Amino acid sequence: MRTLEAPDTAVPFLDLVEINAPFRAEFEAMFGAALTSGRFVGGEPVERFEQDFADYVERRHAVGVANGTDALELTLRGLGVGVGDEVIVPTNTFVATIEAIIAAGATPRLVDVDPGTLLLTPDIAMAATTARTAAIVVVHLFGQVADLGALSAVAQREGLALIEDAAQAHGARWLGAPVGQDSDAATFSFYPGKNLGALGDGGMVVTDDEALAAFVRSAANHGRTPDDANRHVVLGRNSRLDSIQASFLSLKLQRLDEHNARRRDAAQRYVELLGRDETVCLLDHDDRSTSVHHLFPVRVEDRDTVRSELQERGIATGIHYPVPCHRQPAYERLSPGVLPVAEDAASRLMSLPMSPTLTIENVERVCSELTNVTRGTTR
Ligand SMILES: *Cc1c(COP(=O)(O)O)cnc(C)c1O
Repeated sequence: MRTLEAPDTAVPFLDLVEINAPFRAEFEAMFGAALTSGRFVGGEPVERFEQDFADYVERRHAVGVANGTDALELTLRGLGVGVGDEVIVPTNTFVATIEAIIAAGATPRLVDVDPGTLLLTPDIAMAATTARTAAIVVVHLFGQVADLGALSAVAQREGLALIEDAAQAHGARWLGAPVGQDSDAATFSFYPGKNLGALGDGGMVVTDDEALAAFVRSAANHGRTPDDANRHVVLGRNSRLDSIQASFLSLKLQRLDEHNARRRDAAQRYVELLGRDETVCLLDHDDRSTSVHHLFPVRVEDRDTVRSELQERGIATGIHYPVPCHRQPAYERLSPGVLPVAEDAASRLMSLPMSPTLTIENVERVCSELTNVTRGTTR
């Protein structure tokens, strides 16, 4: 993000000013329309965006909420997952995934991930299943899709709910179909830096389960019933989507596939240029999936030095995430002990610039600087 970087950064990590600039005139018109309508929460723009997004992911129901964390928590609650239940979840995720499980009243059972993809696998999920397990939350981290076919088979065999945290995977596909097909529900975040980002916060639950959709819709709006705003049937809260954000998101959704294709082109060039470099370890990609490359992480030795040398050369990088969830102070009580793959990844991962506005020329520049740095070549 531009504000976080030195002014001389030649290749930003993600430039939200540049990404949103082409939409400026339409955003301003939408703001004007909202002021004219006087309706700022819910209403027609939210209904339209829910329909647009449901069509996009080919699901029957899409329910807008305030953010991706609430989307996950309300989905768990709607599926009856709560106190006394264990939820299998990879430790290699953004902490919000864990927060949502705890907020729903359940206990996260933090597990390790595949060393190639850094995603949850069916075998790991299977091995972690106990008599108390109620659900699996699979995270399509970095925009890469976990093995949904086999995970849904495990969930069905064991009688577990399967929920996809797709906060980093808008537009990602498994066997050609949008994520959200093989599970009880998928949840999304529209935080500004996500592949589909609002100009503020937002989230969505998508599902074919009508009862689940109705629960989330009610719980996100103070537990109201659709036909009587003064009747409160479930414990609710305020987790509504703003009308103006929904308008912005409907507009940006039209360009999501194009933006994801640009990310994919950049990723392909990274793979071409770094794939044979033994100083840089790329993630494995499952050919059954279509990744949307929310991030492009690589593993390098002496990561912190490499990062600062890249920064000196004008290349911004990130770390996703430096401390796995089971090592975070807030969640140490849940730690099952050493989770070696996630811990090793956390110490070596470095995210290279990735964005729909990243040019191929800049990808090439990043790769040549990175190779110079990791090979110890001086300028
Ligand atoms: C961003 C994110 C979330 C949370 O979304 P918010 O909208 O910030 O609440 C949850 N899970 C993952 C994997 C995320 O990247």
